Amino acid sequence: MARTALVTGGSRGIGAAISKALKAEGYNVAATYAGNDEAAAAFTAETGIKTYKWNVADYDESVAGIAKVESEVGPVDIVVANAGITRDAPFHKMTPEQWHQVIDTNLTGVFNTVHPVWSGMRERKFGRVIVISSVNGQKGQFAQVNYAATKAGDIGIVRSLAQEGARAGITANAVCPGYIATEMVMAVPEKVRESIIAQIPAGRLGEPEEIARCVTFLASDDASFINGSTISANGAQFFS
Ligand code: NDP
Repeated sequence: MARTALVTGGSRGIGAAISKALKAEGYNVAATYAGNDEAAAAFTAETGIKTYKWNVADYDESVAGIAKVESEVGPVDIVVANAGITRDAPFHKMTPEQWHQVIDTNLTGVFNTVHPVWSGMRERKFGRVIVISSVNGQKGQFAQVNYAATKAGDIGIVRSLAQEGARAGITANAVCPGYIATEMVMAVPEKVRESIIAQIPAGRLGEPEEIARCVTFLASDDASFINGSTISANGAQFFS
């Protein structure tokens, strides 16, 4: 029987590419989103992938949403915690609200997404947890103290989950994209974007599909001994 994959933020950007790639590999896929009903409807019309709306920052909503996915699509074997936001500001101007919005969505959102599916994975002795982190969690970034904290936190999460899940057939890994051509990055002023591209040795932004291929590999049986790892896909942006 086909395995079931849940992709948060799976209706747009990198998440949409991940949802489509997993479907192409034969998984039953459910994609979630926060509020952009129009984009979600267009995505379902294009792909046939069912979408579900809930706020990953809310634990009770996540539990209820995942219960619905499991009854309609199947027990979640692969969970891709992809939903994320930015609220950038230099630290001296960053508000507590900007801090908490990003922590609640990007970091607590990972707990809220993985925790409700974890016990089922343990019982079934199979699971794939894949968290979409960022190069900026690995190296830090000007005006992203909040965002970098969450993305570095993702790496701690998967390293810990890997140790807890290894004997239960569960792997947990992070993918760290560099700058990818999605709405999140295209919303950055053009001048800033050009200066970002100038710092990427590959000389270009990445494509969402290039991240999706990392995810389909980590989800596969071929990746069964890769556990607690971070895969960087960033066009050779090295950091120490
Ligand atoms: P987009 O802004 O294009 O899409 C974000 C998706 O997440 C949307 O589906 C959105 O739903 C959903 N989402 C946002 N907040 C919530 C929430 N509170 N609850 C549920 N869903 C939510 O983002 P990207 O595709 O660019 O980014 C995807 C992930 O990749 C993020 O974690 C990001 O940090 C990471 N990343 C992105 C990089 C890039 O260059 N783009 C680089 C490195 C990492 P809705 O459509 O309803 O708004």
